[in-house]
Amino acid sequence: MAIREIRELGDDILTKPCKEVTKMTLRTKILIEDMLDTMYESMGVGLAAPQVGILKRIVVIDVGEGPIIMVNPEIMETSGEQTGDEGCLSVPGKAGQVTRPDHVKVKTLNEEMEVVILEGDGLLARAMCHEVDHLDGKLYVDLVEGELHDVTYEEEEEE
Ligand code: ZN
Repeated sequence: MAIREIRELGDDILTKPCKEVTKMTLRTKILIEDMLDTMYESMGVGLAAPQVGILKRIVVIDVGEGPIIMVNPEIMETSGEQTGDEGCLSVPGKAGQVTRPDHVKVKTLNEEMEVVILEGDGLLARAMCHEVDHLDGKLYVDLVEGELHDVTYEEEEEE
């Protein structure tokens, strides 16, 4: 178990596209464990590998329903719309309004490199879209309607 340093807005690595994972190695398993530890330590609901400086298509999410690990995720379908505050562990202390689909269907590999189809609504759908964007070098700050605002610790909802 290890906590990794989270890269912040302004770091070039956050704008680069990530490479597909071709096989699950011990090194990659350790990365996934560390990403979970780092996300929980930072009270986030999601973390993508580039946020810890690794350009691989790996995401971890936990919106309070247990950990979800996605390797090479692809968003297959989206529906509905939700507009709400979104944050990011790479943009600490800030949030901004972003419109996202309210429902998404994702085709992904799990930790065992098995294909699984996941569906998410509400916050989970938002987190899935946010984290998959990270794998393409996209940050939520470019989608914000209006300005970023400061968040206090109590109402912080980082992804
Ligand atoms: Zn983020």
